[in-house]
Amino acid sequence: MAGSNEHATIALMDELIRRRSITPDDAGCQEIIAARLSAIGFKCESMPFGDVSNLWARRGNTGPVLCFAGHTDVVPPGPEGSWQTDPFEPVEHDGVVYGRGSADMKSGLAAMIVALERFIAANPDHEGSLAVLITSDEEGRARDGTLKVIETLKARNESIDWCVLGEPSSQKSLGDIVRIGRRGSLSGMLTVQGVQGHVAYPQLADNPIRRFAPILSELHAIEWDKGNDHFPPTSFQVVDIRSGLGFPNVTPAELEARFNFRYSTEWDHEGLKARVHEIFDAHDIDYELNWHLSGEPFLTGPGKLIDAVAKAVEEESGVAPELSTGGGTSDGRFISPAGTDVVELGPVNASIHKVNEHVRIDDVVTLSSMYRRIMELLLT
Ligand SMILES: [Zn+2]
Repeated sequence: MAGSNEHATIALMDELIRRRSITPDDAGCQEIIAARLSAIGFKCESMPFGDVSNLWARRGNTGPVLCFAGHTDVVPPGPEGSWQTDPFEPVEHDGVVYGRGSADMKSGLAAMIVALERFIAANPDHEGSLAVLITSDEEGRARDGTLKVIETLKARNESIDWCVLGEPSSQKSLGDIVRIGRRGSLSGMLTVQGVQGHVAYPQLADNPIRRFAPILSELHAIEWDKGNDHFPPTSFQVVDIRSGLGFPNVTPAELEARFNFRYSTEWDHEGLKARVHEIFDAHDIDYELNWHLSGEPFLTGPGKLIDAVAKAVEEESGVAPELSTGGGTSDGRFISPAGTDVVELGPVNASIHKVNEHVRIDDVVTLSSMYRRIMELLLT
């Protein structure tokens, strides 16, 4: 039986890798998945927005709702010829499959679907509901993907209790890291106005660099927080400053800067913005500051989902996972705010977005067993 299951998971992953689903093109992946889910009693809804394909599938009408989530889109393969194999033709070598999306995250999708099939075959009358949320816009702008599906569900009062994202969370071996949250990311785009002048007559000019310098050092000197049990301290980083005209005897009229906060749950974006404006407003400076919020921080606290995921990982891999909030942003930022517990558990991420992306066959098969075990622990 183990052999046939391995075949099913890898065969589905290979089928998905063959689809050139470069973001936001789904290239038919969700059709394959919906057909498999319909066959085991899911009600499948396609939720397209713009050029993005989204799939919401649910089996059952009662709570609690356990949702598996992920994306079918992949990043472009990179320059032609940079791969050792065709990125859209899965190639198996020494127990490893090579192909774009093999790790991020078509292996995760295949592991979920086969796990659902096996679980439902053994537990057709499971408790609560199972759901699947898949988008083709995670690697791109991410505006018409998971965010829109969550908004749609919210508008009709449909909620998700627990969500497992199949993003590649593992670092060295499968399941060594489970992500239970992410830091927030907030960017500031600053313009400071001054008056251009001759460097020898500063009293006739107003140098914006001189205006901004003390504020910058103040921003750097602040200890924003000390972090907490789950997050490192909030960090402030300047990523760009530009101002001069390129002439040694002219002081500039304008300064532009860009900075970013990666922040812990000690802050929300309104609080950070207010604090920064307070600092600027305490100085004599003519400035404009625009903000871009990529996502608020989120954290899934102790509870049934984390217990089930940690237990499933330990049973299948022999090692208890580290619960982490590291890494960049993910679609978890859209799912969590509705009060859903979110964790990310997926394959090793060492090769994601790179050339020769790959995944270990054993890991994909074990990942599927972990997902099935999570269902058993939560819905039987
Ligand atoms: Zn991904």
